[in-house]
Amino acid sequence: MNRRTFLATSSLALTAAPAHEWGGPVLDIHLHPRDGRSAQDHLDGSGVTKAVLLTNLKDEARAKAEIAAHPKSFVWFAATDPSAPDGLAKLRQAVVDGARGFGEMKHNLAAGGKEMRQVYDLCAELNVPILMHFQEVKGDFNKGWREFDKILKTYKKTTFIGHADFFWANISADVPMDRSYPEGPIKPGGLTDRFLSDYPNLYGDLSANSGNNALSRDPEFARSFLKRHQNKLMFGCDCSCQDGHGTGGTPLLARLKGKCVARDTLQLAKDLTDAKIFRKITWENGIRLLKIPA
Ligand SMILES: [Zn+2]
Ligand SMILES: [Zn+2]
Repeated sequence: MNRRTFLATSSLALTAAPAHEWGGPVLDIHLHPRDGRSAQDHLDGSGVTKAVLLTNLKDEARAKAEIAAHPKSFVWFAATDPSAPDGLAKLRQAVVDGARGFGEMKHNLAAGGKEMRQVYDLCAELNVPILMHFQEVKGDFNKGWREFDKILKTYKKTTFIGHADFFWANISADVPMDRSYPEGPIKPGGLTDRFLSDYPNLYGDLSANSGNNALSRDPEFARSFLKRHQNKLMFGCDCSCQDGHGTGGTPLLARLKGKCVARDTLQLAKDLTDAKIFRKITWENGIRLLKIPA
């Protein structure tokens, strides 16, 4: 076999890749560009088809290089501190440059404060969603989740995607304020559960230790939660591992040590739902909401 035939044969073999590991294509809505790893390697290792590369603008060059190398694999979200003098202008420019949303927005600002309100207005004007990190135990990012219904009511034209420990701790009605990842049974009636039911402009991002914990701590509750919000939830990983198999990752939860968060959360979701809901959560909802060409 000469070199050209060999290349043609091997690229054919690549196109006829094995059937999707997760039963269909998967969209990961929460991956970050990181030094020392290829985002594409993470997709390949975890059986993921496409990902949203959430990029703080300081890492913009790195994200753009990853996207240029694998244009079909990635879409781009941009984030920067909106309280910086040119913060809002930079966010606006990022959309001009191809960002499909803002995120993850994780700054030491009040969720109901002036700066974040300006971002919500910008989202409505430019018709892009915002993905927010809500943390108020051991950290102070977008503080004010418990009063966020006021924002959801006021900014009806803005699409909000919630993420992180305080967002997920609040699927339970009792929320301990001394730990980020509460264990054990969930008490029905939690704020996040109610907000997802009551506000059509709120969506949930299942990524990270927090999303994984929300699904694993009380499987019976998780089953009904996934069913109830099957059109509102989206898979994401926020995993720090290098290869989609857990190498070099630094998960905080003991049960995730040495594992890829993407693989573990996908397996949890698969075990807790039927194939139709799994498809919605891992592909259809995100593709529709983020208007990603499938
Ligand atoms: Zn986060
Ligand atoms: Zn991983």
